[in-house]
Amino acid sequence: RSEHVLVIGLGRSGRAGVAVLRERVGSIAATDEAPRDALGDALAELAASGVPFVDPGALDALLPSLTVAVLSPGIPLNAPIVRRVQAAGVPVFSEVEVAYRICKAPIVAVTGTKGKSTTTALVGALFAAAGKTVHVGGNIGNALIGETAGAAPDDWVIAEVSSFQLESIRSFKPRISLITNITPDHLDRYFSMEEYAEAKFRIFANQGPGDTFVGNYDDEIVRAAPGEDGNRIKSRQLWFASEPHRSTSLYLRGGELIVYAPPTGDPRPIDVMRVDEIPLLGRHNVENAMGAILVALAAGLPLEAVREGVRGFRPLGHRLAPVADVDGVQYVDDSKATNPGAVIAAMRSFDRPIVLIAGGKAKGTEFAEMGKVVSSRAKAVVLIGEAADEIAAVVKRATVERAASMEEAVRRAHALAAPGDIVLLSPGCASFDMFRSAEHRGELFVEAVQALDHRVAGAR
Ligand code: ADP
Repeated sequence: RSEHVLVIGLGRSGRAGVAVLRERVGSIAATDEAPRDALGDALAELAASGVPFVDPGALDALLPSLTVAVLSPGIPLNAPIVRRVQAAGVPVFSEVEVAYRICKAPIVAVTGTKGKSTTTALVGALFAAAGKTVHVGGNIGNALIGETAGAAPDDWVIAEVSSFQLESIRSFKPRISLITNITPDHLDRYFSMEEYAEAKFRIFANQGPGDTFVGNYDDEIVRAAPGEDGNRIKSRQLWFASEPHRSTSLYLRGGELIVYAPPTGDPRPIDVMRVDEIPLLGRHNVENAMGAILVALAAGLPLEAVREGVRGFRPLGHRLAPVADVDGVQYVDDSKATNPGAVIAAMRSFDRPIVLIAGGKAKGTEFAEMGKVVSSRAKAVVLIGEAADEIAAVVKRATVERAASMEEAVRRAHALAAPGDIVLLSPGCASFDMFRSAEHRGELFVEAVQALDHRVAGAR
């Protein structure tokens, strides 16, 4: 009640922050640098709840009375408006940090370059299958603060957190943290791979002996997270991998079976489930499932509930989601593949010939690795967007064509595909050069597939 809060940024999280904090603090105001006409709904919402909007130009008058500022996830820490607030001596907390401070329930936090949303949703499904009340939020789409505000002490909060959100945490301390993998991404925003990894490592920075860190042992960068002396992680560590190692608790046996070797107690491994019982495409999703299962086991959930939860899970939209079968060609929407690593994972998920639709806005990442995998697995590639030339330069052997729109890309891909082939949208880039978002890109793909004017087996 003694806090005087400024919410910076009126996107989804900022608005949720206003709604939650309004009841809990002494005073609250909000600001946003976007032009006023772009803020229409948000301003109306503020006015209706009696919260003042402060024009960024008029902030100076307010700064001396503030005790804390809450930063929305989309705004970088080095944005001028943030600097101004900090320069006035006002501490800036991220929305995630504030969400944590008001949370009464234990938190599972999931980060990683890829697989965050899928793994977060799966963890939520496993806890729900075990009868827990779960609140799933964060980067996955709904503001974390809105979820933590309503969580009771016996509930669980499952939070997807991005490296950007982790940059500005202070005391955020999940009961269980998980890093799925760390591969090149967002290198237009980070100075180096090391700096990007460091941001992700903040997920366990405040954890102690009563907490658990779950990591992907197959990922070299994640495996190095404990540091050379192994002391950087203060919590219990549980690792999963595709093969057993001395330090792995969950691994594959014969590539077919997921096995749990409890880190303490009974040393005999327990069969968890067969890999083909996971209702998701691709090897990478086996990794995501293993991460989620290990989190669930770390929380003490019963194995049978965990098995049921995995078996009943369905893929999230735009993540290797089957769309339709047209003339014997299977169309798959992987629009959320926004970096080269995700394209590699997608290409490895099929053993049929692939016509790949890729390209978009590159994010400073290298395409060489992706080029190798695409060259060895794709029969044809249709390129769109700004990065088309860069990708064309690394694709060998496969037929390469260009398209100016999604609709054209799908038509070209259809012409290149034969019955039995896969047409895969897996762009490896951001979407903003041609589309509103990755979801928008995926929706246009689905529409274009439906417009092929053939028998469409329907979205499944
Ligand atoms: P995120 O939330 O981290 O972006 P998603 O679960 O939304 O992850 O998946 C986004 C994209 O990344 C999809 O195209 C998916 O096929 C791919 N992907 C998912 N998990 C992995 C993984 N473990 N490794 C590589 N790519 C992955």
